[in-house]
Amino acid sequence: MSTGGHQGIGMTSQRTRDRLVSRLRDEGISNQQVLDVIRNTPRHIFVDEALASRSYEDTALPIGYGQTISQPYVVARMTTALLESGPLDRVLEIGTGSGYQAAIMAPLAGEVYSVERIRPLLDQARKRLTELQLRNVRLKYSDGSWGWPEFAPFDAIIATAAPEQIPEALLEQLAMGGRLVMPVGSRSMQQLMLLTKTPDGYEQQVLDQVVFVPMLGGTE
Ligand code: SAH
Repeated sequence: MSTGGHQGIGMTSQRTRDRLVSRLRDEGISNQQVLDVIRNTPRHIFVDEALASRSYEDTALPIGYGQTISQPYVVARMTTALLESGPLDRVLEIGTGSGYQAAIMAPLAGEVYSVERIRPLLDQARKRLTELQLRNVRLKYSDGSWGWPEFAPFDAIIATAAPEQIPEALLEQLAMGGRLVMPVGSRSMQQLMLLTKTPDGYEQQVLDQVVFVPMLGGTE
C-alpha cells in the first residue's frame, strides 16, 4: 500500500518528535509553549524526502541552494528569547528558507512576516505553510536587510542568516520594547545577539556562539 510520500514513515512518527522535545528540554529549553509547538509541527515536511528520516535529529540539514534549515535547539532558543517580553503581535523574519522557523512562530504570534531572497525556496515554503494551514504568515521575495517597512513596527525581529553588522533598517523597524534576535559576525564565527529597544537606546546580550549561513545582499 502506498502511504503517499511523507506519511507513515516510522522515523517521522509522533514518538520520534517527542524524543526531540525531551532532548531540547534536557538542553535547557523550558518554555512549554515553544516545546508544544515543536512537538506539533512536522519538521519532516520542511526537508527533502531523502532527509526525512533525519528530520527529528537536533541538527541543521541542507535545503538546497547552499542553505540550511536551522537546528531545532537554535530555533527553540531564538523563539524563546523573543517570547520573554510577552505575547508577540507582529514578527518579522529575515530568511524564510524552508519555512520551518516561520511555522514555529505562527501559532505564537499574531502575524508573521518573512522575507527570503531565493525565489525557489520561498515558493516551496509557501506551499508547505499553506499545507499546514498557517494563514497568519506573509511571505515576500526581497532582500531582507531592508526589512518590510509597510508592516513596521515589529514587536520582534528574527534573522536566520548572519550579517557582519545589524542592518540599520531593521533597528528602525523595531517597536519600542521590541526584541531582535540574530546571529552577527563573519562566515565562520558569529554571536547570537539579543537586542531590546529602549527609550535610551538598545540593551544587548550575547546568547550563544553560532554558525549560520551569511546574510547576503540583493535577490537571486
Ligand atoms: N529560517 C530558515 C533558515 C534558512 S537558512 C528555516 O527555518 O529553514 C537562512 C536563509 O536566509 C536562506 O534561505 C537564505 O537564502 C536567506 N537569506 C540570506 N540573506 C538574506 C537576505 N538578505 N534577505 C532575505 N533572506 C536572506
